[in-house]
Amino acid sequence: MKVIHLLAFLLLLAVSGHTSTPFDHYFTTETCRVDFHLSGDAMHTKAYVLKISREPIWGGRQTADGQFMNRGDYRFVVTDSLSGQVLYSDGFNALFREWQTTPEALQLGKTFEQTILFPFPKQTVQVRIESRKSLDEWSTLSEFYIRPEDKLIVRNQSPKVPFKTLQKFNDPSKAVDIAILAEGYTARERNRFYDDARQLMKYLLEHEPFKKYASQLNFYAVAVPSEESGISEPHNDEWKNTALGSHFHTFYSKRYLMTGNVFRVMDFASVVPADVVYILSNTTHYGGGGIYNYYALTAARGRDAASVAVHEFGHSFAGLADEYFYENGDVLDQTYDTAVEPWEPNITTLQQFNRKWSQLLPADSPIPTPLPADSTLHRSTQLTGVFEGAGYQSKGIYRPAPDCRMETNRAPGFCPVCEKAVEERIKLLTN
Ligand SMILES: [Zn+2]
Repeated sequence: MKVIHLLAFLLLLAVSGHTSTPFDHYFTTETCRVDFHLSGDAMHTKAYVLKISREPIWGGRQTADGQFMNRGDYRFVVTDSLSGQVLYSDGFNALFREWQTTPEALQLGKTFEQTILFPFPKQTVQVRIESRKSLDEWSTLSEFYIRPEDKLIVRNQSPKVPFKTLQKFNDPSKAVDIAILAEGYTARERNRFYDDARQLMKYLLEHEPFKKYASQLNFYAVAVPSEESGISEPHNDEWKNTALGSHFHTFYSKRYLMTGNVFRVMDFASVVPADVVYILSNTTHYGGGGIYNYYALTAARGRDAASVAVHEFGHSFAGLADEYFYENGDVLDQTYDTAVEPWEPNITTLQQFNRKWSQLLPADSPIPTPLPADSTLHRSTQLTGVFEGAGYQSKGIYRPAPDCRMETNRAPGFCPVCEKAVEERIKLLTN
């Protein structure tokens, strides 16, 4: 009986001429966007949903297999409300999480904007937003249902701004779509922005593994116009009226250039298919930032612009950790608890090193690995080992190579472990 049913089904498929994929079964090719707030203080985190909306184009991966890359301090999980099957999931990080480590977070509560995107569902789905407890444990911050027929799901209209496709080889569902947004460029400076965006694309494509996968990377430049030219510098009492409201001096750290206006950023990113958002700031002053699956933001020009751009993109695209450290920084910095294995693929506390790059180590490599006697190798990116000093701390945290793009601006590129981590993300987004 079952065989007959199967045969009839196959015959039906042959007649209709196409096969239905699980993606088609569960999702449309539109985007479901959830805007929410991460709120709290140093000790508490809450997530409150603000708005659910529907945008015309889904440019991300077209799978409904719930495949999850175990990166990020947070993740969201979309499940079929009837079967409980996980359909889509992704990890992310937040500026809120960094703020929680500042002294201010001991004094007051604050709220930060956050957005998640996934393909728009055809049937009711449950969405869970979770916070990481350990390498494999999560706690739920928010849980809610999305009914596709809900009349109050907002139909978003993308803002009308000019954009250019800088490079496009592949269909968005099979490519990594990188949306470069202009910040601090007036309408008259539009061509300058396009030139800077092309330069940024060149910087990235000069680095492996982006070079190797160049034909799977689509680049778009969205010329968001600002009222004023340049970027706000609060430490110099200089504020500019810019479209995305970015500024230096984030959390009172002079070089930390970020914006809290994530909803506005995502409105402009929706003009093009966007797996990744890169904000290019019209300044030559050194600075920037990058947060996993959130955005990267750097100065368009100036000292080390190429190195900084690729470094910050390493954070935002692949969830790479900083491999640099401060001597004696082990007392001052509390970012990582050395008793816990961090989730970032390129650092380890040796608590669960088997989950990291042990397969890439040369045979008989000592753990930890001392720096080689030959000092010319002290800046090598290709020597793989377990070298002490990473994640701002000189003790108890280890990096995969003497040097890396995630450690210094002088490094020629990523170490093999970072390269592999970037490659895994490219593969996930293009499969
Ligand atoms: Zn590295």
